[in-house]
Amino acid sequence: MAITTNEELLEAKKHIIEVSRELAEVGLLVRTWGNISQRVDENSFIITPSGIKYDDLTPDMIVKVKISDLSYEGDVLPSSEKAVHAACYKARRDVDFIVHTHQVYASCAGTLGIKKILTYFDDTDMVIPVAPYALPGTEKLASNVEMTVKKYPDINGIIMANHGTICMGVNSKEAVFEAERMEVACHNFLVDVCKTDMNHGVEVGFNSHLENGEIVYDSPDTPIRVKEIHEKIYKKRPDVKFIVHNKSEAVMTVSRRASHMRPLLDDFAQLIGYSVKVPSNEHGKDGQSYHNIKKNVNAIFSLNDGAYCVGSTYDDAMAVAIVLDKGCIAYISVMRNGEGHYLSLWESYKMNRHYRKSYSKLADKKGN
Ligand SMILES: [Zn+2]
Repeated sequence: MAITTNEELLEAKKHIIEVSRELAEVGLLVRTWGNISQRVDENSFIITPSGIKYDDLTPDMIVKVKISDLSYEGDVLPSSEKAVHAACYKARRDVDFIVHTHQVYASCAGTLGIKKILTYFDDTDMVIPVAPYALPGTEKLASNVEMTVKKYPDINGIIMANHGTICMGVNSKEAVFEAERMEVACHNFLVDVCKTDMNHGVEVGFNSHLENGEIVYDSPDTPIRVKEIHEKIYKKRPDVKFIVHNKSEAVMTVSRRASHMRPLLDDFAQLIGYSVKVPSNEHGKDGQSYHNIKKNVNAIFSLNDGAYCVGSTYDDAMAVAIVLDKGCIAYISVMRNGEGHYLSLWESYKMNRHYRKSYSKLADKKGN
């Protein structure tokens, strides 16, 4: 149904914000990740902006974008994934609402190198096509998604390999239901096929932050062994002001086995780094004393003790902790599945650099 009046447009913008909060509440949208759009008419759609938290959204920040050339109205930058949305509206004329999420289980299922996920929801078989990988924000990614959507014209939910989902519908209700259904169905797949049944989230261990150059520990019971790690991190990384110690089920599991984590997901490459080492017994006396603290790698694993996630704000450190947890579930799923599609070093490096550059620009603008 086309939106014709200004009142209708304002209502639609408010509705997008409502839907974004609804999805944030159930954990399918987090921070600034993902985006939502609604078709205005044959030629245009409105979409959430780039880099603004869902909590902070106001209707004037929802941007109108032209489907044909991606030009947009106003001075708020639309989501960098606008080309993907445009491709879907072009390929599916029946679709009026699109939700793009980085939801945990579907994103992890999209790292296995499988072209379509055959799974089930509520005893009903379900096929989830996976669009081939391309770097985020590129034309190639939009055309990969378009190709996949056209190939499966009756399917409302697809996965973008190593990235997230696209959930479509004639209205928001249908698109949101698709996102929820996909998450359950992908969890079923990870449990059945990859033998990976993991909770997701952040299990906090020992956190700390810097106050006037002094380390302040959240817990008075922080052991000396742990304090020494925090001290080492602050010393080697002057940019770090907050440390979140994540001991989630998945991060703990990865921290038990020595490995070299290569990114399986775009947000891992962007926020955490392109090469993260997990110490082994060969490192130091027993591995416990070895910590690979490097510039631009924002998660520091500790043998059998989770990982220290770092940032210049609490929010940044927490974002790393959330993305690391998801990255570890993906890693475990791929190991148990026996195969997966890793991002190349070059792709990961490029994304990491691009993210750091655009993030610092954004922070400058906000004056912090
Ligand atoms: Zn995305």
